[in-house]
Amino acid sequence: MATTWEEEGTKRKKYPNLDKDISADIVVIGGGITGLLNAYLLSEAGQKVVLVEADELGNNATLRTTAFITQVIDTDYSKVADIFGTKEAKQVWESHGQAIDQIERIINKENISCEFVRCSDYLYASTKKQFESIQEEFRTYKELGFKGEIFTDGKALNFPNYGYIEIHNQAKFNPAQFIFGIAEAAEKQGVMIFEDTEALEITEDSQIRIKTHHGDITTGKVILATYKPFTNEKTHLKKAMYRSYILEIEIPKNTLKEAIYEDDSNPYYYFRIDSGKEKDRMIIGGEDHKDIFGKSLRKESFKGLEKYLDKILKNIKYKITKRWDGPILEPSDGLALIGEIKPNYYVATGFSGNGMTYSTISAILLRDLILARRNAWTSLYDPTRTILKPKRLASKAKDYIEEFFGGALKNLIS
Ligand SMILES: Cc1cc2nc3c(=O)[nH]c(=O)nc-3n(C[C@H](O)[C@H](O)[C@H](O)COP(=O)(O)OP(=O)(O)OC[C@H]3O[C@@H](n4cnc5c(N)ncnc54)[C@H](O)[C@@H]3O)c2cc1C
Repeated sequence: MATTWEEEGTKRKKYPNLDKDISADIVVIGGGITGLLNAYLLSEAGQKVVLVEADELGNNATLRTTAFITQVIDTDYSKVADIFGTKEAKQVWESHGQAIDQIERIINKENISCEFVRCSDYLYASTKKQFESIQEEFRTYKELGFKGEIFTDGKALNFPNYGYIEIHNQAKFNPAQFIFGIAEAAEKQGVMIFEDTEALEITEDSQIRIKTHHGDITTGKVILATYKPFTNEKTHLKKAMYRSYILEIEIPKNTLKEAIYEDDSNPYYYFRIDSGKEKDRMIIGGEDHKDIFGKSLRKESFKGLEKYLDKILKNIKYKITKRWDGPILEPSDGLALIGEIKPNYYVATGFSGNGMTYSTISAILLRDLILARRNAWTSLYDPTRTILKPKRLASKAKDYIEEFFGGALKNLIS
């Protein structure tokens, strides 16, 4: 079944495939949100950019997302501070905040109509134990000076919970309308966009040469925005592929407040409420498991998600209208890998469930690196950093075990 965002794709402008040899200052490979935002910011800065997409724009992860735009990343900030340091944890928070502002700036500048709304992100506890961990996370928020409020009484949320943190001024949008708007704006700035144009091979002599089926592109620099770098660029041990499941639901108007919501289980559940004319829309996700289980867990994962949905919507009548799943690429130490991986080759990968903000961070950071501007996030997200530090490995090993017992195993034996 097509996702709501994929259905949007039928109405948008299509781009040709490459059918001759061309050249550019920079080639962006991949036409999801990451490739498009990188192409947009670089062309805004005056660079001659070519973007090639193997299939259709957005067709992999971007049109399967729930599109929360938030500073609350999948790795707890207490862990980020522990593994990377407090200064670094603050930088992560700030970078995601700047990403939200940047998305809003572009939407306003280009007049992109994409249902962008600022809203609260509620980090809620589904159990008493989760509330203890939320309290611990809130202590880190206070120490690091993040804005947020904690509530021990969950009543105001209108569904069963044991308390929550409210983070104001986060956002959500329609990712399809956003990326198709960005593509048009980038093209107006001079970006040449080619769909159905797979980068087959990258070779290098005096210049970088990208081979496609019907033409080569010569360039000085290349950005791999292919979700997972398709050339083996020393990042493969630094990330792991998961699968997440989504239900889209119609619910009566004003059942829950328009916002984004995430609980604190591992793997966690997350949902957004979008105000509609006659009904509201809820999009809920969760039941993530390692992708090695393939499609064998699909049925059980949706069942698990429906069970959770019943708990949230208890006595409320609802109708499931769509279901889909999609890939989540987890970085092994909890932060994305963005930067120069070898001279003139740039990667942006391992965004976990935070690709809306990470893609934007990558566009800002890679533009600055390519234009030799200083950027405070360079070492934070450096893709060449080592993960072979005991703290980094121990922390993620614990996560993997919790995810396995909370997700895949629970569903395998149910
Ligand atoms: C179920 C689900 C829920 C999510 N929820 C959220 C959320 O609420 N908030 C959030 O911030 N993030 C969320 N994410 C994560 C987010 O959607 C992704 O991180 C983001 O969309 C990744 O974008 P991308 O452009 O890097 O990758 P993609 O969208 O996968 O784009 C990569 C593109 O590269 C192309 N490509 C690959 N190889 C080649 C090649 N050789 N030549 C040319 N093109 C190539 C592919 O065809 C593809 O179109 C979610 C993801 C999923 C699956």
